[in-house]
Amino acid sequence: MNQFLTKYIELKQAFEITDCSPTSVRDLYDFREQLSHIDDLQAKMVLVDVLNLLWFKKSAYELYRSILDKKDPTTFKRLAKLKTDADNCGDFYAIPQKKTPEEEAQDRANLISLGLPFFKYHPNPLETHSFESSDTGVECACCGKTTKIYYEGPFYSIDDIDYLCPECIATGAAAKKFNGSFQDDCSIEEGVNESEKIDELIHRTPGYSGWQQEFWRSHCGDFCAYLGRVGAQELKALGVLDEVLDDPLLNFVKNEDIKTMVNGGCMQGYLFRCLHCGKHLLWVDFD
Ligand SMILES: [Zn+2]
Ligand SMILES: [Zn+2]
Repeated sequence: MNQFLTKYIELKQAFEITDCSPTSVRDLYDFREQLSHIDDLQAKMVLVDVLNLLWFKKSAYELYRSILDKKDPTTFKRLAKLKTDADNCGDFYAIPQKKTPEEEAQDRANLISLGLPFFKYHPNPLETHSFESSDTGVECACCGKTTKIYYEGPFYSIDDIDYLCPECIATGAAAKKFNGSFQDDCSIEEGVNESEKIDELIHRTPGYSGWQQEFWRSHCGDFCAYLGRVGAQELKALGVLDEVLDDPLLNFVKNEDIKTMVNGGCMQGYLFRCLHCGKHLLWVDFD
């Protein structure tokens, strides 16, 4: 057994024994980073395993396809399995890594370097898939400019709008031009009294797509930052599962259901974090 595989088995065991603990996930992310710089076939084969375990299904398939021995029929079965997973899941359900404040600052710098405005209530809309990118670019329905990053979430207006650029969301131009909103003002948690905050959330913040009507959590007198879709595994990887249990607002679901919820399953979790005290809060809905 080669050294890469030995290390992978060790990390996979830790991941399974600790039930997806933040440390075990971080170790796998670090190993992925390490392997990605090694120009060696055995290392790349193990990298496929790491990507697959972390649910980067599309990346695992693409890497495997690029390195497999095309004359060896024994590889085809695995290729077909990876392709099915990639077609069904892409990298959409990748297990998240708990980030340090430095890593979050780096994310923010990366988004700014892409020319994206900062949305405090939705800090990483690329990661949550509310924004998507297109190499050729699409035309923003509001300003008419070509944008490579465009909005994919809900926008409530009379007009049928295809694409909006991040800038037209941030400035409020899109909401104003189409008399629309990104979040239903009846589906926000009570406790925020300042109209400026409500206006920023509803008219100048990219929304997110839920199974049902999206609901925006609040805490400490302000709206929370939306972090993305989660199941129990994602909550464990981020180390916040216990924090989101016993929530009076979620009295329509049992703690046990949250502890077994699967990302992309019939009960879907949406994770928020308070901008002031840092507490994590959950919203859930059903398909
Ligand atoms: Zn625009
Ligand atoms: Zn708070």
